[in-house]
Amino acid sequence: MTRRVSILGATGSIGQNTIDLIARDPDAYAVVALTGGNNIARLAADAIRLKAQVAVTAHDSCLEPLRAALAGTGIEAAAGAEAICEAAARPADWVMSAIVGAAGLAPGLKVLEQGAALALANKESMVCAGPLVMATARKHGGTILPVDSEHSAVFQALIGEDMAAVERVIITASGGAFRDWPLEQLRNATPAQAATHPNWDMGQRITIDSASMFNKALELIETREFFGLEPGQIEAVVHPESLIHALVGFRDGALMAHVGPSDMRHAIGFALHYPERRDLPVERLDLVRIGQLSFRAADETRWPALRLAREVMAAGGLAGAVFNAAKERCLDAFIAGRLGFLQMAEVVEEVLTTQSAQNGLIDAEVSLDNVLAADHFARKTADKLIERAPRG
Ligand code: NAD
Ligand code: MG
Repeated sequence: MTRRVSILGATGSIGQNTIDLIARDPDAYAVVALTGGNNIARLAADAIRLKAQVAVTAHDSCLEPLRAALAGTGIEAAAGAEAICEAAARPADWVMSAIVGAAGLAPGLKVLEQGAALALANKESMVCAGPLVMATARKHGGTILPVDSEHSAVFQALIGEDMAAVERVIITASGGAFRDWPLEQLRNATPAQAATHPNWDMGQRITIDSASMFNKALELIETREFFGLEPGQIEAVVHPESLIHALVGFRDGALMAHVGPSDMRHAIGFALHYPERRDLPVERLDLVRIGQLSFRAADETRWPALRLAREVMAAGGLAGAVFNAAKERCLDAFIAGRLGFLQMAEVVEEVLTTQSAQNGLIDAEVSLDNVLAADHFARKTADKLIERAPRG
């Protein structure tokens, strides 16, 4: 039976890995929608190759080039955030959510509202609005399948287990580009240096977030929301080899580890074929050649983002939306050379403090309107602080 699939964020790193798997078995899938940003050549070529119904760019200014690239193919072209939500609402069985940032939230909710399976790479939607995402899935019978490698690992380790027997969850972190740098050098780290990753090949934003550990901070919160754990049950540990993705600790002291190559096609493929396991074109690990797996403490002085994640989990409510939005603005400013590497966490912390002190946004109900309002205020506050931040 052919399955109807859509890929939101099809032109990115996760999107392209998803297409790689789907394109290997074209008769098994009917592609409904592909969405992207300004890489119109990529978006159009994939839409044509996969015979999609519709291709959507996030940018209105890219609509004409997209139309031109699809002329004569019968594939619809559309543009803008609304059009992405409409594409997400088109009937499908399985949808990959691989837009980067809070922009992935609204389309992901549309997928769940139609009761489809949502393969969730977009961790930001869990961080901003975990309770809303989970409630939407429950209400409409939608399924959420984690695609973040750590969360896929936890999900797999939990198959057949009783959540009541879970004591703790440990997610691993590679430590990113700067794990071996002396602390005092970090202040002068450049975007180009931060955008290299020792083990994974990913989009620019998540790679820089790996160096600052904001990625792991988001993932701690994502773990709490996804699996309904208490903050004290969730730990991060640095594991430079990136082969163990997560471990689940049970009340009898056993740890179940998920071990696999650093290839996102594993987690994507697991979500694509769930509940079956099928052959995947990923490397088979040679343990003898690997020789050793090592672990280090995830130091909260070196990576203050991890401490902030704990504070966000303790606060709950809209703190995650504020945290993520402030982080996104700081990351934009760092990439643009307007904010130093260590200043990102400083500004995010100040935004969290300001927001919780000011307008009670943190305590409000986690509805889409409230999340968007918290996101908006956090971005504005962050922009003001970035403007005032000392340079150099
Ligand atoms: P990427 O930057 O390579 O791709 C992002 C995609 O989103 C592109 O298609 C882009 O056009 C689209 N996009 C960007 N901004 C948008 C907006 N405002 N509106 C609509 N579309 C927009 O990112 P990625 O590395 O593929 O990551 C995608 C998501 O998956 C992120 O949430 C990331 O944290 C998560 N993730 C990625 C990896 C990885 O290996 N790359 C691993 C785990 C989780
Ligand atoms: Mg991850």
